[in-house]
Amino acid sequence: MPVTADRIRRWHAELAWLPGRGVRSDVLIEAAGERFTVVTPGVRCDDCPLGTAHLAGLTLPGLANAHSHAFHRALRGTVQARRGTFWTWRERMYQVAGTLDPDSYLALARAVYAEMTLAGITCVGEFHYLHHAAGGARYADPNQMGRALIEAAAQAGLRITLLDTCYLAGGLSAEGVPEPLSGVQLRFGDGDGTRWADRVSELGADEHGLLAGHARAGVAIHSVRAVPPGQMRPVIAWSHAFGAPLHAHLSEQPAENDACLAAYGVTPARLLDRAGALGPRATVVHATHLTGDDIGLLGGSRTVACLCPTTEADLADGVGPARALAAAGCPLSLGSDSHAIIDLLTEARLLEMGERLTTGQRGSFRAEELAQAATMSGHACLGWPDAGEIAVGAYADLVTVALDTPRLAGTTAATALESVIFAGSAADVRNVVISGEDVVADGKHLLVADVPAALSAAITPLLTTA
Ligand SMILES: [Zn+2]
Repeated sequence: MPVTADRIRRWHAELAWLPGRGVRSDVLIEAAGERFTVVTPGVRCDDCPLGTAHLAGLTLPGLANAHSHAFHRALRGTVQARRGTFWTWRERMYQVAGTLDPDSYLALARAVYAEMTLAGITCVGEFHYLHHAAGGARYADPNQMGRALIEAAAQAGLRITLLDTCYLAGGLSAEGVPEPLSGVQLRFGDGDGTRWADRVSELGADEHGLLAGHARAGVAIHSVRAVPPGQMRPVIAWSHAFGAPLHAHLSEQPAENDACLAAYGVTPARLLDRAGALGPRATVVHATHLTGDDIGLLGGSRTVACLCPTTEADLADGVGPARALAAAGCPLSLGSDSHAIIDLLTEARLLEMGERLTTGQRGSFRAEELAQAATMSGHACLGWPDAGEIAVGAYADLVTVALDTPRLAGTTAATALESVIFAGSAADVRNVVISGEDVVADGKHLLVADVPAALSAAITPLLTTA
């Protein structure tokens, strides 16, 4: 095959947030192919080479949505119409899950991922458990649903980590006994951890866990409710064999803690620790209702905590101890989870707002810390440590937030990051570059022509049949 030189592209960012250097003006950014090769602040626009694209506003690295269930997007609005609990919400979610097949899931996920890229998200961690057909029947390719998600990400132009989720039990009984899967849940199950691992191995990951240029494999333990401790070993082993991220829902609801204590005599965090699931490659999602001992276990093992503040508010989960987790040693990342809204700037902001509401004090997190959770830490916990910062050698992902919008007009260069984190929204994202390629230009998605129409066309049939 002939060797083709990587295409050189150049941008001039009016303002850019650079790791360890804060917000800098007049930044010349160059990429060869999918990686940055030059990042130089203080270069006037007039001094840039011919063909350099100008980015007006504040340019950030790519945002990482570290926790997504793409199909939950179909529930937006319908689950807000009545009262209810996490558990009644889950019943409605199961109804939608029951209607999807590989074709309709591809269409839905493509539209949802396009909404994400419009919001500046350049990488998604898809916590995927909708593996099989109705009743648990295998598709001809047992990974057909997972492959639909990988294809959806390709069509929407963003990177994906497919967090293939082991989901074996329907919950824990009041006596602490694992209950069999039933109803729609039968679509989630592989029987046991070994059969789960056999199916995941058929995805065809290379030795580094890569599935394609834009996709890598990760694994997940759905929760201590859904995977008995004895079945966690194959999931953890798969993570170690491929250097793959390992994610798990943790202590989202007090009922989960109660059931775990009844079944095993320990908290969910202690159970995961005993199973060997915690560590720098592991991410626990939510981590809302924790004991001091739990926080020590998570921080001491350098486990990542992925908080999903808009979902946790929407489902009345509670406010997780974000500052305490960070202080204990946990890197923090963010996810839009149920997609009640898709806006990583809002997720980042709510991390600090949750602390303010629960402690009565302002300023637990600086804007830079919140931005880091939305970018670098999110990418790292999805297995892409070389993404999420505007630095030589990193993936060439750029997210430019316009500062001339009603929300952000009047922003000063000195506090541009504070303005964007504390007042910006997904609607202010104007340009998105992923791996050196334009995906969003002037607020328009270049690969999915009409994102609202694509969402509507994918969601409407699901709600009429669910
Ligand atoms: Zn989740």
